[in-house]
Amino acid sequence: MTEVAASTKQNLLDLDREGLERFFADTLGEKRFRAHQVMKWIHHRHVTEFEQMTDLGKALRAKLEAHAEIRVPQVQFEKPSTDGTHKWLLAMDGSNAIETVYIPDKGRGTLCVSSQVGCALNCQFCSTATQGFNRNLSTAEIVGQVWTAAKHLGNVPHKQRRLTNVVMMGMGEPLMNFDNVVRAMSVMRDDLGYGLANKRVTLSTAGLVPMIDRLAEVSDVSLAVSLHAPDDELRSQLVPLNKKYPIAELMESCVRYAQRKRGESVTFEYTLMKDVNDQPQHARGLIRLMRDFDNRLQMKDAAKVNLIPFNPFPGTRYQRPDDAAIRRFQKLLNESGRIAPVRRTRGDDIDAACGQLKGQVMDRTRRQAEFRKRLEDGGVDAAA
Ligand code: SAH
Repeated sequence: MTEVAASTKQNLLDLDREGLERFFADTLGEKRFRAHQVMKWIHHRHVTEFEQMTDLGKALRAKLEAHAEIRVPQVQFEKPSTDGTHKWLLAMDGSNAIETVYIPDKGRGTLCVSSQVGCALNCQFCSTATQGFNRNLSTAEIVGQVWTAAKHLGNVPHKQRRLTNVVMMGMGEPLMNFDNVVRAMSVMRDDLGYGLANKRVTLSTAGLVPMIDRLAEVSDVSLAVSLHAPDDELRSQLVPLNKKYPIAELMESCVRYAQRKRGESVTFEYTLMKDVNDQPQHARGLIRLMRDFDNRLQMKDAAKVNLIPFNPFPGTRYQRPDDAAIRRFQKLLNESGRIAPVRRTRGDDIDAACGQLKGQVMDRTRRQAEFRKRLEDGGVDAAA
Protein backbone atom coordinates (compact mmCIF):
# COMPACT_ATOMS: atom_id res chain seq x y z
CA MET A 1 0.00 0.00 0.00
CA THR A 2 1.38 3.41 -0.88
CA GLU A 3 1.96 6.30 1.49
CA VAL A 4 -0.61 8.40 -0.38
CA ALA A 5 -3.32 5.84 0.13
CA ALA A 6 -2.40 5.60 3.78
CA SER A 7 -2.91 9.28 4.34
CA THR A 8 -6.18 9.73 2.49
CA LYS A 9 -8.17 6.61 3.22
CA GLN A 10 -9.54 5.49 6.55
CA ASN A 11 -7.94 2.22 7.63
CA LEU A 12 -10.91 0.24 8.95
CA LEU A 13 -8.61 -1.76 11.20
CA ASP A 14 -8.20 1.42 13.23
CA LEU A 15 -11.85 1.42 14.28
CA ASP A 16 -13.78 -0.54 16.87
CA ARG A 17 -17.47 -1.32 16.39
CA GLU A 18 -18.60 2.10 17.56
CA GLY A 19 -16.08 3.92 15.38
CA LEU A 20 -16.94 1.84 12.36
CA GLU A 21 -20.67 2.45 12.84
CA ARG A 22 -19.98 6.15 13.00
CA PHE A 23 -17.82 5.97 9.90
CA PHE A 24 -20.63 4.26 8.00
CA ALA A 25 -23.28 6.68 9.23
CA ASP A 26 -21.39 9.97 9.17
CA THR A 27 -18.79 9.60 6.44
CA LEU A 28 -20.49 7.21 4.06
CA GLY A 29 -24.12 8.07 4.82
CA GLU A 30 -24.95 4.39 5.17
CA LYS A 31 -26.84 2.30 7.69
CA ARG A 32 -24.86 1.43 10.80
CA PHE A 33 -25.47 -2.29 10.53
CA ARG A 34 -23.34 -2.36 7.38
CA ALA A 35 -20.40 -1.89 9.75
CA HIS A 36 -21.26 -5.23 11.32
CA GLN A 37 -21.09 -7.03 7.99
CA VAL A 38 -17.74 -5.48 7.24
CA MET A 39 -16.35 -6.36 10.68
CA LYS A 40 -17.22 -10.01 10.10
CA TRP A 41 -15.49 -9.97 6.72
CA ILE A 42 -12.37 -8.47 8.22
CA HIS A 43 -12.03 -10.31 11.52
CA HIS A 44 -13.83 -13.61 10.97
CA ARG A 45 -13.02 -14.26 7.34
CA HIS A 46 -9.78 -12.28 7.11
CA VAL A 47 -10.85 -10.57 3.89
CA THR A 48 -9.15 -7.28 3.04
CA GLU A 49 -10.60 -6.55 -0.41
CA PHE A 50 -13.98 -4.83 -0.55
CA GLU A 51 -14.82 -6.49 -3.84
CA GLN A 52 -14.87 -9.86 -2.07
CA MET A 53 -17.50 -8.68 0.43
CA THR A 54 -20.33 -10.18 -1.55
CA ASP A 55 -23.19 -9.28 0.75
CA LEU A 56 -22.55 -5.57 0.17
CA GLY A 57 -24.07 -3.90 -2.87
CA LYS A 58 -21.86 -2.82 -5.73
CA ALA A 59 -22.37 0.88 -5.03
CA LEU A 60 -21.38 0.52 -1.40
CA ARG A 61 -18.30 -1.47 -2.32
CA ALA A 62 -17.25 1.29 -4.69
CA LYS A 63 -17.82 3.90 -1.99
CA LEU A 64 -15.71 1.91 0.45
CA GLU A 65 -13.02 1.55 -2.16
CA ALA A 66 -12.91 5.33 -2.51
CA HIS A 67 -12.87 6.22 1.18
CA ALA A 68 -11.47 3.28 3.06
CA GLU A 69 -8.90 0.53 3.11
CA ILE A 70 -8.04 -2.48 5.22
CA ARG A 71 -4.33 -2.23 5.78
CA VAL A 72 -2.83 -5.14 7.70
CA PRO A 73 0.77 -5.45 8.90
CA GLN A 74 3.23 -7.06 6.54
CA VAL A 75 4.82 -10.26 7.74
CA GLN A 76 8.58 -9.78 7.43
CA PHE A 77 9.25 -13.25 8.56
CA GLU A 78 7.72 -15.91 10.73
CA LYS A 79 9.33 -18.57 12.78
CA PRO A 80 7.74 -21.70 14.18
CA SER A 81 9.27 -23.17 17.33
CA THR A 82 9.62 -26.88 17.95
CA ASP A 83 7.17 -26.55 20.86
CA GLY A 84 4.35 -25.12 18.71
CA THR A 85 5.07 -21.50 19.59
CA HIS A 86 5.02 -19.24 16.54
CA LYS A 87 6.63 -15.84 16.19
CA TRP A 88 5.94 -13.15 13.61
CA LEU A 89 8.09 -10.18 12.84
CA LEU A 90 5.67 -7.60 11.46
CA ALA A 91 6.71 -4.50 9.55
CA MET A 92 4.90 -1.45 10.88
CA ASP A 93 6.31 1.11 8.49
CA GLY A 94 9.46 1.56 6.47
CA SER A 95 11.85 1.24 9.37
CA ASN A 96 10.10 -0.35 12.33
CA ALA A 97 9.04 -3.88 13.08
CA ILE A 98 7.50 -5.54 16.10
CA GLU A 99 7.10 -9.09 17.30
CA THR A 100 3.99 -11.09 18.09
CA VAL A 101 4.06 -14.57 19.59
CA TYR A 102 1.45 -17.34 19.61
CA ILE A 103 1.74 -19.88 22.41
CA PRO A 104 -0.50 -22.97 22.24
CA ASP A 105 -1.14 -24.88 25.43
CA LYS A 106 -3.56 -27.51 26.66
CA GLY A 107 -7.02 -26.29 25.74
CA ARG A 108 -5.98 -22.76 24.93
CA GLY A 109 -3.96 -20.61 22.58
CA THR A 110 -2.47 -17.35 23.79
CA LEU A 111 -1.27 -14.50 21.64
CA CYS A 112 1.33 -12.17 23.13
CA VAL A 113 0.72 -8.77 21.56
CA SER A 114 2.98 -5.69 21.39
CA SER A 115 1.75 -2.17 22.09
CA GLN A 116 4.74 0.01 21.20
CA VAL A 117 7.77 0.00 18.94
CA GLY A 118 10.37 -0.46 21.67
CA CYS A 119 9.73 0.76 25.20
CA ALA A 120 10.70 3.82 27.21
CA LEU A 121 10.56 2.36 30.70
CA ASN A 122 14.06 0.93 30.72
CA CYS A 123 13.41 -2.07 32.96
CA GLN A 124 16.89 -3.42 33.51
CA PHE A 125 16.20 -7.06 32.77
CA CYS A 126 14.12 -6.64 29.61
CA SER A 127 15.51 -6.97 26.13
CA THR A 128 12.95 -4.58 24.65
CA ALA A 129 14.39 -1.82 26.85
CA THR A 130 17.79 -2.17 25.23
CA GLN A 131 16.13 -1.22 21.94
CA GLY A 132 14.93 2.13 23.22
CA PHE A 133 11.59 3.68 22.36
CA ASN A 134 10.37 4.88 19.02
CA ARG A 135 6.60 5.24 18.94
CA ASN A 136 3.20 3.99 19.95
CA LEU A 137 1.45 1.48 17.75
CA SER A 138 -1.85 2.53 16.22
CA THR A 139 -5.05 0.61 16.94
CA ALA A 140 -4.73 -0.93 13.47
CA GLU A 141 -1.20 -2.09 14.19
CA ILE A 142 -2.29 -3.71 17.47
CA VAL A 143 -5.45 -5.31 16.03
CA GLY A 144 -3.38 -6.26 12.97
CA GLN A 145 -1.27 -8.58 15.12
CA VAL A 146 -4.38 -10.49 16.18
CA TRP A 147 -5.67 -10.45 12.60
CA THR A 148 -2.39 -11.95 11.33
CA ALA A 149 -2.32 -14.73 13.91
CA ALA A 150 -6.03 -15.54 13.55
CA LYS A 151 -5.66 -15.78 9.80
CA HIS A 152 -2.63 -18.03 10.11
CA LEU A 153 -4.50 -20.25 12.58
CA GLY A 154 -7.67 -20.40 10.50
CA ASN A 155 -9.44 -19.00 13.54
CA VAL A 156 -13.20 -18.56 13.36
CA PRO A 157 -14.83 -17.26 16.56
CA HIS A 158 -17.51 -19.59 17.90
CA LYS A 159 -16.35 -22.39 15.64
CA GLN A 160 -12.66 -22.95 15.75
CA ARG A 161 -11.09 -21.22 18.65
CA ARG A 162 -7.40 -21.67 18.29
CA LEU A 163 -6.92 -18.20 19.63
CA THR A 164 -8.53 -18.09 23.08
CA ASN A 165 -6.44 -15.56 25.01
CA VAL A 166 -4.58 -12.34 24.35
CA VAL A 167 -1.95 -10.96 26.70
CA MET A 168 -0.65 -7.44 26.18
CA MET A 169 2.80 -8.63 27.20
CA GLY A 170 4.79 -8.13 24.02
CA MET A 171 6.96 -5.14 23.36
CA GLY A 172 6.07 -1.89 25.06
CA GLU A 173 4.12 -0.56 28.01
CA PRO A 174 0.44 -0.78 27.04
CA LEU A 175 -0.74 1.86 29.50
CA MET A 176 1.53 4.41 27.83
CA ASN A 177 -0.49 3.89 24.68
CA PHE A 178 -3.81 3.96 26.44
CA ASP A 179 -6.43 4.93 23.86
CA ASN A 180 -5.13 2.71 21.07
CA VAL A 181 -4.72 -0.26 23.39
CA VAL A 182 -8.20 0.12 24.88
CA ARG A 183 -9.77 0.42 21.43
CA ALA A 184 -7.83 -2.60 20.16
CA MET A 185 -8.88 -4.65 23.19
CA SER A 186 -12.48 -3.73 22.47
CA VAL A 187 -12.15 -5.31 19.00
CA MET A 188 -10.54 -8.40 20.56
CA ARG A 189 -13.54 -8.83 22.86
CA ASP A 190 -16.27 -7.93 20.39
CA ASP A 191 -18.29 -10.84 18.96
CA LEU A 192 -17.90 -9.18 15.58
CA GLY A 193 -14.16 -9.07 16.22
CA TYR A 194 -12.33 -11.93 17.91
CA GLY A 195 -15.02 -12.74 20.50
CA LEU A 196 -12.66 -13.22 23.44
CA ALA A 197 -14.09 -13.19 26.96
CA ASN A 198 -13.11 -10.22 29.15
CA LYS A 199 -11.11 -12.42 31.45
CA ARG A 200 -9.16 -13.83 28.53
CA VAL A 201 -7.72 -10.47 27.54
CA THR A 202 -4.97 -9.46 29.95
CA LEU A 203 -3.16 -6.16 30.12
CA SER A 204 0.25 -6.28 31.75
CA THR A 205 1.79 -3.10 33.13
CA ALA A 206 5.01 -2.12 34.84
CA GLY A 207 2.83 -0.03 37.16
CA LEU A 208 1.60 3.23 35.69
CA VAL A 209 -0.67 4.02 38.62
CA PRO A 210 -2.94 6.80 37.21
CA MET A 211 -3.58 4.77 34.08
CA ILE A 212 -4.51 1.66 36.07
CA ASP A 213 -7.27 3.80 37.58
CA ARG A 214 -8.34 5.01 34.16
CA LEU A 215 -8.39 1.48 32.84
CA ALA A 216 -10.69 0.47 35.68
CA GLU A 217 -13.17 3.08 34.46
CA VAL A 218 -13.30 2.02 30.84
CA SER A 219 -12.45 -1.65 30.55
CA ASP A 220 -13.10 -5.03 32.12
CA VAL A 221 -9.96 -6.82 31.07
CA SER A 222 -7.77 -8.83 33.44
CA LEU A 223 -4.92 -6.91 35.02
CA ALA A 224 -1.37 -8.21 35.43
CA VAL A 225 1.27 -6.16 37.19
CA SER A 226 5.01 -6.66 36.80
CA LEU A 227 6.15 -6.52 40.40
CA HIS A 228 9.53 -8.33 40.43
CA ALA A 229 10.58 -7.11 43.87
CA PRO A 230 8.96 -6.82 47.30
CA ASP A 231 10.62 -3.56 48.39
CA ASP A 232 11.08 -0.13 46.84
CA GLU A 233 14.85 -0.12 46.94
CA LEU A 234 15.19 -3.23 44.83
CA ARG A 235 12.17 -2.53 42.64
CA SER A 236 13.43 0.94 41.76
CA GLN A 237 16.66 -0.64 40.52
CA LEU A 238 14.86 -3.16 38.34
CA VAL A 239 11.87 -1.07 37.24
CA PRO A 240 12.85 2.62 37.25
CA LEU A 241 9.17 3.62 37.02
CA ASN A 242 8.94 2.56 40.66
CA LYS A 243 10.67 5.79 41.67
CA LYS A 244 7.61 7.65 40.44
CA TYR A 245 4.98 5.14 41.56
CA PRO A 246 6.33 3.16 44.52
CA ILE A 247 4.98 -0.20 45.64
CA ALA A 248 2.48 1.08 48.22
CA GLU A 249 0.80 3.35 45.64
CA LEU A 250 0.89 0.61 43.05
CA MET A 251 -0.74 -1.91 45.36
CA GLU A 252 -3.42 0.64 46.28
CA SER A 253 -4.27 1.17 42.61
CA CYS A 254 -4.51 -2.61 42.18
CA VAL A 255 -6.88 -2.79 45.15
CA ARG A 256 -9.05 -0.12 43.51
CA TYR A 257 -8.97 -1.99 40.20
CA ALA A 258 -10.04 -5.28 41.79
CA GLN A 259 -12.74 -3.54 43.81
CA ARG A 260 -14.23 -1.90 40.74
CA LYS A 261 -14.19 -5.27 39.01
CA ARG A 262 -16.14 -6.69 41.94
CA GLY A 263 -13.56 -9.03 43.31
CA GLU A 264 -11.63 -10.04 40.22
CA SER A 265 -8.13 -11.19 41.04
CA VAL A 266 -4.99 -9.34 39.94
CA THR A 267 -1.95 -11.26 38.73
CA PHE A 268 1.46 -10.19 39.97
CA GLU A 269 4.33 -11.20 37.73
CA TYR A 270 7.66 -11.87 39.33
CA THR A 271 10.66 -12.47 37.10
CA LEU A 272 13.18 -14.48 39.09
CA MET A 273 16.79 -13.37 38.72
CA LYS A 274 19.67 -15.24 40.28
CA ASP A 275 20.92 -13.69 43.54
CA VAL A 276 18.95 -10.51 42.80
CA ASN A 277 15.36 -11.20 43.88
CA ASP A 278 15.24 -14.97 44.34
CA GLN A 279 16.21 -15.29 47.99
CA PRO A 280 13.95 -16.47 50.84
CA GLN A 281 13.70 -12.95 52.26
CA HIS A 282 12.31 -11.77 48.92
CA ALA A 283 9.76 -14.58 48.92
CA ARG A 284 8.72 -13.62 52.44
CA GLY A 285 8.34 -9.96 51.42
CA LEU A 286 6.24 -10.99 48.43
CA ILE A 287 4.08 -13.23 50.64
CA ARG A 288 3.38 -10.27 52.93
CA LEU A 289 2.42 -7.99 50.04
CA MET A 290 0.11 -10.62 48.58
CA ARG A 291 -1.48 -11.30 51.96
CA ASP A 292 -2.09 -7.58 52.50
CA PHE A 293 -3.74 -7.42 49.11
CA ASP A 294 -6.06 -10.34 49.91
CA ASN A 295 -6.91 -8.73 53.24
CA ARG A 296 -7.75 -5.41 51.64
CA LEU A 297 -10.14 -7.16 49.30
CA GLN A 298 -11.32 -9.59 51.96
CA MET A 299 -10.93 -12.33 49.45
CA LYS A 300 -8.71 -15.38 49.40
CA ASP A 301 -6.43 -15.57 46.35
CA ALA A 302 -7.31 -12.05 45.22
CA ALA A 303 -3.60 -11.79 44.43
CA LYS A 304 -2.27 -14.36 42.02
CA VAL A 305 1.46 -14.79 41.58
CA ASN A 306 3.09 -15.78 38.34
CA LEU A 307 6.76 -16.67 38.57
CA ILE A 308 8.82 -16.13 35.42
CA PRO A 309 12.35 -17.54 35.35
CA PHE A 310 14.54 -14.85 33.80
CA ASN A 311 15.10 -15.31 30.08
CA PRO A 312 18.59 -14.24 29.11
CA PHE A 313 19.46 -12.11 26.08
CA PRO A 314 22.79 -10.93 24.70
CA GLY A 315 24.51 -8.33 26.84
CA THR A 316 22.42 -8.78 29.97
CA ARG A 317 24.09 -8.91 33.37
CA TYR A 318 21.29 -11.01 34.90
CA GLN A 319 21.03 -14.78 35.08
CA ARG A 320 18.28 -17.31 35.53
CA PRO A 321 18.33 -18.95 38.98
CA ASP A 322 18.93 -22.70 38.97
CA ASP A 323 15.91 -24.97 39.25
CA ALA A 324 16.48 -25.62 42.95
CA ALA A 325 16.34 -21.90 43.73
CA ILE A 326 13.18 -21.48 41.67
CA ARG A 327 11.55 -24.42 43.46
CA ARG A 328 12.61 -23.08 46.85
CA PHE A 329 11.04 -19.70 46.08
CA GLN A 330 7.87 -21.33 44.83
CA LYS A 331 7.67 -23.65 47.82
CA LEU A 332 7.76 -20.73 50.27
CA LEU A 333 4.83 -19.16 48.46
CA ASN A 334 2.96 -22.46 48.36
CA GLU A 335 3.52 -22.95 52.08
CA SER A 336 1.92 -19.57 52.68
CA GLY A 337 -1.16 -20.91 50.90
CA ARG A 338 -0.57 -19.26 47.53
CA ILE A 339 -0.43 -21.07 44.26
CA ALA A 340 2.43 -19.59 42.30
CA PRO A 341 2.80 -21.26 38.93
CA VAL A 342 6.18 -21.02 37.27
CA ARG A 343 5.65 -19.86 33.72
CA ARG A 344 7.13 -22.48 31.45
CA THR A 345 9.64 -21.08 29.03
CA ARG A 346 8.16 -21.37 25.59
CA GLY A 347 9.65 -20.61 22.25
CA ASP A 348 13.12 -19.85 23.56
CA ASP A 349 14.64 -21.58 20.56
CA ILE A 350 13.23 -18.73 18.47
CA ASP A 351 13.92 -15.94 21.00
CA ALA A 352 10.21 -15.58 21.63
CA ALA A 353 10.19 -15.91 25.42
CA CYS A 354 9.19 -13.11 27.83
CA GLY A 355 11.61 -10.24 27.65
CA GLN A 356 13.33 -11.51 24.53
CA LEU A 357 11.25 -9.58 22.01
CA LYS A 358 13.19 -6.96 20.18
CA GLY A 359 11.75 -6.28 16.78
CA GLN A 360 13.47 -3.52 14.91
CA VAL A 361 13.45 -0.11 16.42
CA MET A 362 14.90 2.62 14.33
CA ASP A 363 15.48 6.27 15.06
CA ARG A 364 15.08 5.69 18.74
CA THR A 365 17.56 7.95 20.43
CA ARG A 366 15.83 11.26 19.89
CA ARG A 367 12.39 10.01 20.75
CA GLN A 368 13.70 8.23 23.79
CA ALA A 369 15.21 11.44 25.10
CA GLU A 370 11.92 13.25 24.52
CA PHE A 371 9.95 10.54 26.27
CA ARG A 372 12.30 10.45 29.25
CA LYS A 373 11.92 14.17 29.64
CA ARG A 374 8.14 13.93 29.65
CA LEU A 375 8.35 11.12 32.18
CA GLU A 376 10.46 13.29 34.45
CA ASP A 377 8.10 16.24 33.93
CA GLY A 378 5.21 14.02 34.92
CA GLY A 379 3.64 14.31 31.50
CA VAL A 380 3.41 10.66 30.56
CA ASP A 381 -0.08 10.21 31.92
CA ALA A 382 -1.53 11.46 28.68
CA ALA A 383 -0.94 8.73 26.14
CA ALA A 384 1.84 9.64 23.76
N1 SAH B 1 5.44 -3.38 29.88
C1 SAH B 1 4.56 -4.42 30.32
C2 SAH B 1 4.39 -5.57 29.37
C3 SAH B 1 5.62 -6.14 28.68
S1 SAH B 1 6.67 -7.26 29.52
C4 SAH B 1 4.98 -4.90 31.68
O1 SAH B 1 6.00 -4.48 32.18
O2 SAH B 1 4.24 -5.68 32.29
C5 SAH B 1 5.83 -8.73 29.83
C6 SAH B 1 6.41 -9.48 31.06
O3 SAH B 1 7.69 -10.06 30.80
C7 SAH B 1 6.62 -8.53 32.23
O4 SAH B 1 6.21 -9.10 33.43
C8 SAH B 1 8.12 -8.35 32.20
O5 SAH B 1 8.60 -7.88 33.40
C9 SAH B 1 8.59 -9.74 31.84
N2 SAH B 1 9.97 -9.77 31.37
C10 SAH B 1 10.66 -8.79 30.76
N3 SAH B 1 11.92 -9.17 30.50
C11 SAH B 1 12.02 -10.44 30.92
C12 SAH B 1 13.08 -11.41 30.87
N4 SAH B 1 14.25 -11.12 30.33
N5 SAH B 1 12.83 -12.63 31.38
C13 SAH B 1 11.64 -12.92 31.90
N6 SAH B 1 10.61 -12.06 31.97
C14 SAH B 1 10.80 -10.83 31.48
